[in-house]
Amino acid sequence: MSMINKKRLLENFLKLVQIDSMSTEERAMVDELARQLSALGLSVVEDDAGSKIGGNAGNLIATMPGTVAKPAIMLSAHLDRVTPGLGIKPLVRDGIIYSDGSTILAADDLAGVVGIVEAVQTLLESKEPHGPIEIALTVAEEGGLRGAKNLDYSKLTAKLGFVLDGGGPVGSIVIKGPAQDRIEATIRGKAAHAGVSPEDGINAIIAAATGLARMKLGRIDPETTANIGVIQGGTATNIVPDMVHLKGEARSLNPAKLMAQSEHMRACLEAGARERGARAEVQISRMYAELSLEAGDEVVEIARRAAEHIGLVPTLVTSGGGCDANIFNQRGIATVNLGMGYMKVHTTEEYISVDNLEKIAEWTLAIIQQTPKA
Ligand SMILES: [Zn+2]
Repeated sequence: MSMINKKRLLENFLKLVQIDSMSTEERAMVDELARQLSALGLSVVEDDAGSKIGGNAGNLIATMPGTVAKPAIMLSAHLDRVTPGLGIKPLVRDGIIYSDGSTILAADDLAGVVGIVEAVQTLLESKEPHGPIEIALTVAEEGGLRGAKNLDYSKLTAKLGFVLDGGGPVGSIVIKGPAQDRIEATIRGKAAHAGVSPEDGINAIIAAATGLARMKLGRIDPETTANIGVIQGGTATNIVPDMVHLKGEARSLNPAKLMAQSEHMRACLEAGARERGARAEVQISRMYAELSLEAGDEVVEIARRAAEHIGLVPTLVTSGGGCDANIFNQRGIATVNLGMGYMKVHTTEEYISVDNLEKIAEWTLAIIQQTPKA
């Protein structure tokens, strides 16, 4: 059995977290991974997603032909991170990697990135036969999955995908996740002096409040959630406000329920505005489609067998969030999201164990090995 080089894996992780790589500013990280994957003999291209989203780097797509007839698989992780993520100084204590407390750690998602690199390097050293491998390292995943949305899919042939970016323990396999709509609204009233001629005004804040008061929000049903998260409007206490902006979202595992919830939110805002003599302009946009795989699907079974093969307990889970896997599935690549065992992500207390880093790499290698012959 091929052995992951734990020391090399940890060193690469500690090296990469120290390379700044905020969303749309991934240039140095993309260059480093292009160098690493080229050095392994993969053919590496960078797509033009960077210019499409106003970033300084595109997605990296690295491919390796198979040595046996197996279906191509895609391995994917993201290269960007959330704030505060500049100048990360990792420290290892009792087998756990932390930041110094002033930044995140960026195990989300460099744990996935180094897992893929180490698995491929170990595979190549073993000279074991394998099928075609396609690696997609995305930019700007955080805050909108923009790298995956703008990825050059003509460079990929795989119909089976594995995203290494899941929140659960190593061994958990995300097979379901909600679709998400963004709801943006502008309520327009009429400005007037609040002391001199208030009867000439139409208060947009009151109009927005009237709509919000009848809106179902929070956990709508076991599959559906909704939230209004931002409200902005008004300029001074002596002016009847003529404009309010609202931003919200709705999510559901069930596309019909999502559409119903989004339309409900639109209808409430429109009716509330009408009742107060104001106007509501409501925009609903689909951020991503649902992730909807089943036990028994080939990609799920490969991930499950691979987990069992290395002594993990595989569990199929539903996520409340979206990830690049939602986009890949939408683009015809049946993709699961694998649990990384990183903890407290998106906080300065983020951490991951060195053992989990090793398990991630082992699992990834086992996925390559457990993909059945075509
Ligand atoms: Zn992530």
